[in-house]
Amino acid sequence: MPLPATDPLEHRVSVDITVIGSTNLDITATVPRLPGPGETLLGETLTHSPGGKGANQALAASRAGASVRFVSAVGSDAAASQALALLEADGVDLGHLLRDPALPTGTALIAVDAQGENNIIVIPGANASLDGAAVTLRQDVVEGVVVLQGEIPADGVDAAVAAARGRVVLNLAPVIELPRAAVLAADPLVVNEHEGELTLAQLGQDPAGLDEAGVVAALREQGVASVVMTLGSRGALVSDAAGTVEVPSVSVSAVDATGAGDAFVGALAARLAAGETLVEAARFAARFAADTVTRPGAQASYPAKGAVSFEA
Ligand code: ADP
Repeated sequence: MPLPATDPLEHRVSVDITVIGSTNLDITATVPRLPGPGETLLGETLTHSPGGKGANQALAASRAGASVRFVSAVGSDAAASQALALLEADGVDLGHLLRDPALPTGTALIAVDAQGENNIIVIPGANASLDGAAVTLRQDVVEGVVVLQGEIPADGVDAAVAAARGRVVLNLAPVIELPRAAVLAADPLVVNEHEGELTLAQLGQDPAGLDEAGVVAALREQGVASVVMTLGSRGALVSDAAGTVEVPSVSVSAVDATGAGDAFVGALAARLAAGETLVEAARFAARFAADTVTRPGAQASYPAKGAVSFEA
């Protein structure tokens, strides 16, 4: 029987991955030195680049070969199209975005001096609108592996966990206060060392005295089904019911690690959606993320589809 013409799901295509998270436009000025309070100085260059952990991870998953839907909130402004340009060019499904009529697209204002020191002001803007009600309105389009981060309101993340019918990849960056059940729904929870400690504390266990492997083990004992702890150039710890494995990083001459963590998460989710084990997916994610570290920028550094430099 044909669906009624008003059915909002009529034109829906199915996807491997739904990323629900933040979009930002990063506006970066290079300056001879960082200005002091009340000071005006002349900058040198100005660049606008797409960012936000949600958008970065959606692009990484797409470049790693998955079909991706991105659910995010942006403003009704020119910054939104700049922030979404690479996702659109990649064919990521942007049909379920929230366009806030009043708030600006999330923006990071970045000043970088000649020594590489920076000042950053983040304005969440429209990202604050992706709350529990907004996600629940879109619950029917939450398909496949669901990828979440901590740059939208906590009740938005919680609603996404509730809507997820597939595996939940929860990158708790930054660490936000979530109901215990939402953290325990992660499979895997992806964190760096610092985020791992904060998450353990949130689950009610003091991380003092635990090393990295100890934090991973404790998170599992608290009931998290699987954990990936990323350790920069030192690799990642991967722990699930099959055991705990150290996945090494690829040795590269690092140019810029901006967005490397997001590249790792997106690539990991893509390979999980393709049916790989967590360790297999993490080995691919480590190669994908290392490749991005060899080029400047976040999304601009992500390899083209099928073009990861460091094959197994
Ligand atoms: P975050 O920025 O979230 O703390 P990490 O620094 O742990 O993330 O980086 C995420 C992943 O990116 C690492 O697990 C690793 O695979 C890769 N990576 C980051 N920095 C390097 C580097 N210098 N060389 C090789 N791989 C890297």
